[in-house]
Amino acid sequence: MADLDWLKIDRFLMGEAWAGSRTPEYRDHLCHEIGPRWGGSDADLRAADYIHSQMQENGLQQARLEQFDLDSWDYSDATLKIAGSDEALEIKPFLRCPPVDLTAPVVDLGYGTQREIDNADSAVDGAIVVMTLGPEPFTPPLPHTARLTMAASKGAAAAIVIESKTGGRMEYRSANDWRAPDIAPHPLPTVNISYEAGGRLKYLAARGTSATLNVQSQFFETPANNVVAEIEGESWPDEHVIVAGHHDTVFGTPGGNDNTSGTVAVMEAARVLAALKRETGVTPGRTIRFATWSGEEQGLQGAYAYVARHHGKDGLDSPPRFALNLDELSTGHMKGVVVMTDHMRDFMQAQLDTMNDGLACHVQGPLDAHSDHFPFTRAAIPAGILWRWRFFGRHATSEFHHEFGDSAQKLNVRELKEYVGQISRLMLRLSHVPPNDWPENPHTADEMERRAVAEIGSHTPTFHG
Ligand SMILES: [Zn+2]
Repeated sequence: MADLDWLKIDRFLMGEAWAGSRTPEYRDHLCHEIGPRWGGSDADLRAADYIHSQMQENGLQQARLEQFDLDSWDYSDATLKIAGSDEALEIKPFLRCPPVDLTAPVVDLGYGTQREIDNADSAVDGAIVVMTLGPEPFTPPLPHTARLTMAASKGAAAAIVIESKTGGRMEYRSANDWRAPDIAPHPLPTVNISYEAGGRLKYLAARGTSATLNVQSQFFETPANNVVAEIEGESWPDEHVIVAGHHDTVFGTPGGNDNTSGTVAVMEAARVLAALKRETGVTPGRTIRFATWSGEEQGLQGAYAYVARHHGKDGLDSPPRFALNLDELSTGHMKGVVVMTDHMRDFMQAQLDTMNDGLACHVQGPLDAHSDHFPFTRAAIPAGILWRWRFFGRHATSEFHHEFGDSAQKLNVRELKEYVGQISRLMLRLSHVPPNDWPENPHTADEMERRAVAEIGSHTPTFHG
């Protein structure tokens, strides 16, 4: 690193990330021209083609599509009709909800704690149960997946989960625990309902109402594409670091925050670092790889496929020194890096300190399986994330993902420019740390796998204020 003029490099990277930014153009193409892009859909494939072509246009000639088989799902209709009346309440299926057509009594389980399920006793058997999404606030929090599993084991036939967000909002959510080794089926068919309609449903449930729940959905296999590109390192070309984020979205939203923001940051970091090489001759020390994933919203399948292909048994190449995952970068400015294992903390903090931006390194306690760093972590590859929706200090208006409200405007252009400059500076620094100066990785894939499985059903800290 000694012979590099970092002040000059940082000026170029921040300047190019800001003044040369193509962020608005990338945002508009992904959000408005392509729009919602559920993994494996035509729109998702077009997004991968677009990212691939832009990477090539920006000088990353080796940019390529990597296809994988996506275990996919979609639905055509989801309705809830109140028995004995014309009333229907709007619902959304949880992602990967199995098809269901059922008329049964509606039973209110409150927060769905074990105590409330036990109190409802035999009424749960065969019922459509209603449950608040957030955990009961006065006992140790249990994720909704664990509460749904308890209701299912008591015989509940289907579940309606009431949103915590108000104003008629409904998110697409998942009902299974992503720490499990495979994508588990729903504990029971699960849909969600707005906070307001949920209040109506609880009123009706208290009066012994029955309802008909109908979800028309299907599971199928379909091809999907990851995008992978790189700028080759000059000192240790056989080693690499990777920065990546998912380009797919859920239904009905272009995902301005989740995750057009992270996708554009990957595209922009690649563009800026390619421009640095082209215009100043400064290259990475070890190779910097850039990737965008499909299938994140369906159990991180794109990132899993990549880790298996590249770093699994007989994989294509040795694991990266570090994998940085970019997801939901419009919830606040960059505050630092959260690494998944403690052995990376001091090393990463020392790198951040050289940037002189007051960035901090934190360590995630219980494993976080909610985004694409997890397949890397599970394989004992050192990984980290940036600021995400669940941390302190997010913008009050930023809590949008997985719903209509996560529109193009939710991508904060100026903040993203700063992210791109800082990410580029960090990745270039990481590329130039000599092999012997990296901390030894004490973790094994077996150990991480055991940890993931042991933590199934437990609460992941959300860092809400
Ligand atoms: Zn995301």
